[in-house]
Amino acid sequence: MCEALCGNASRHGLERRDLLKGLAAGALAAALPACTTPNPETGRDQFIIIDDSQLSQMALQAWAQQRQRVPQWSNRAAQARLERVGMRIAQGAGRANESWEFVLFDTDEKNAFVLPGNKVGFYRGLYQICDVDDWMATVLGHEVGHVTGRHAAERYSREVATQTALQVAGSQINSQIAMAALGLGAQVGISLPFGREQEAEADILGINYMHAANFDVKQAIPFWNRMQQGNGSRPPELLSTHPDPANRIQHIRDYINSRGWGPV
Ligand SMILES: [Zn+2]
Repeated sequence: MCEALCGNASRHGLERRDLLKGLAAGALAAALPACTTPNPETGRDQFIIIDDSQLSQMALQAWAQQRQRVPQWSNRAAQARLERVGMRIAQGAGRANESWEFVLFDTDEKNAFVLPGNKVGFYRGLYQICDVDDWMATVLGHEVGHVTGRHAAERYSREVATQTALQVAGSQINSQIAMAALGLGAQVGISLPFGREQEAEADILGINYMHAANFDVKQAIPFWNRMQQGNGSRPPELLSTHPDPANRIQHIRDYINSRGWGPV
């Protein structure tokens, strides 16, 4: 049963509804922690009960809503630069054969996000502090790291299992929980940020992709320092799950030096 759940739900003709019924049965829930899939990119075992195509399908809806709700920044030069840096990073991650969409949103937020299905949102406020391409590459490497790390699927799976175990969501996935799990919690008032472990993993994967794409990985340090400074009272999402940004920067610094890409 574990295999049927964790393998590939659609391959077995199971609907998510059925999975949830199964989960609610309780006996299965006890078996779930053992239900893990190794991530080929990181080697880390992950608890995932949704396949990527299902998740991308759900994300499309969230992406459409985001685009409807937030104005886009029509700046052709900026758009071209974002796509150029973004595609270099995708190539560095070995994902250039997939289709990617990069959209600039016209708000002051110093933030960016990624949705399953390779939809990347980048805010004007963040763009405008990216003095060099390497800084944009730091952000985009991090976001692509969330994709290859399968962090949305992991978060979604954890959330659904938890909600089901608590019998809060009943037999249906609450669409708000789904939205929050996809990273658009701000829209529905539920905060479900990526975990600290996922953020740290995305940082490291991002550095690898920057290096593979011939960006200057050392520039990640001044970039994160700059983010920390311009922070104001409310930290942007890129920082929010890191109560101690200094630790995060030190972690990135140590990694760069350990790979011999420093000294930094
Ligand atoms: Zn992140």
